[in-house]
Amino acid sequence: MTRPCPKCNQMNPPNAAFCLNCASPLAEAPPFIGQQQAQQQPWPGQNVGVNAPLASTPAGGTGQKAMIAMILAIVAFLCCGPFTGVPAAVVGWMALDAIKNGRESADSKWMAMVGLWGGIAATLIHGVGYVFWVLLSAMSASSPYGY
Ligand SMILES: [Zn+2]
Repeated sequence: MTRPCPKCNQMNPPNAAFCLNCASPLAEAPPFIGQQQAQQQPWPGQNVGVNAPLASTPAGGTGQKAMIAMILAIVAFLCCGPFTGVPAAVVGWMALDAIKNGRESADSKWMAMVGLWGGIAATLIHGVGYVFWVLLSAMSASSPYGY
């Protein structure tokens, strides 16, 4: 950590204020320059970190998950109830999470919502229908054995 004299290149001790050879003031302080460079270095790194997710966001990230969730929810309404309603809700939730993290296009958010809530609604509607059917059949089955 010796400091070279800017005029005569004489090597001086790190804490010397004046050159040992020519007595010219050693104004520049290399340790301070080093610290400033170290403090500035994180900024380019942070900028790269901020830019990386934006750059990796797929331009063609047309929410395939959201579309699958919506189709599953529609199928759940039409026939299958919980068998496709539960997957629709799960896939819809995953699609919403992907959209929130910027991994999928925000344009597909409504399809993900349809998949999520449509899947839940279809599951509930078919579930309620199933419960009613069980209750009705239990009541009709119990009537012959009534008093
Ligand atoms: Zn000198």
